[in-house]
Amino acid sequence: MLTVDEHGLTVSAPWRSSERRIVGVIRDAEDWVLKKLDVWNAFPARKQTWTQDDRIRYLGRDLSLELTQDTIASLATLRDGDRLQISLADPTHTDSVKAAVVKWYRRHALANFIDRIGALAPRLEVPVPRLFLSSARTRWGSCNARREVRLNWRLIQAAQPTIDYVVVHELAHLLEMNHSRRFWKIVASVAPHYREACAELNRMGLYYMDI
Ligand SMILES: [Zn+2]
Repeated sequence: MLTVDEHGLTVSAPWRSSERRIVGVIRDAEDWVLKKLDVWNAFPARKQTWTQDDRIRYLGRDLSLELTQDTIASLATLRDGDRLQISLADPTHTDSVKAAVVKWYRRHALANFIDRIGALAPRLEVPVPRLFLSSARTRWGSCNARREVRLNWRLIQAAQPTIDYVVVHELAHLLEMNHSRRFWKIVASVAPHYREACAELNRMGLYYMDI
């Protein structure tokens, strides 16, 4: 079975399927797969200037950058909920502005994800797993047999319900290591909005990843 979602292309097949048969299934579905991947690639490329008033996303809303000059330290602070004030030795140095934004994203992503995993794991009745921030360009989250969950810090740009869906998705994999009907039933029991969340990731995924 083929699915194209926020993880990219996933092929699931019965244990005993031969590699030739699996390759055959992919070949037969080539047009469909390419069309799906096209939708994924449809979002226009991100255009950031990393200068004063440039807009970035945070928890599904727009923030504008407010750059100030300060010789002491680079510091990013959220002001009035819609401006990210960044002090830098040289605010005209766009690489430094971008680096300060990424650092700020990562810090808030970690705090947000720890908080949400702590709240959502008990609802799925799984022990709170170890969390690592990931930078993978192709996936929002992953988990492994050592019960470690990795979540992409770039998710902090998405709306909170979308972040919660990805958290629930990975936690549900601690119970079901596949995308079976049972898996989606578990996801839906805690994240009934999961289709809208997938839609946001489909629509905005490439934009969020492009930083
Ligand atoms: Zn999955």
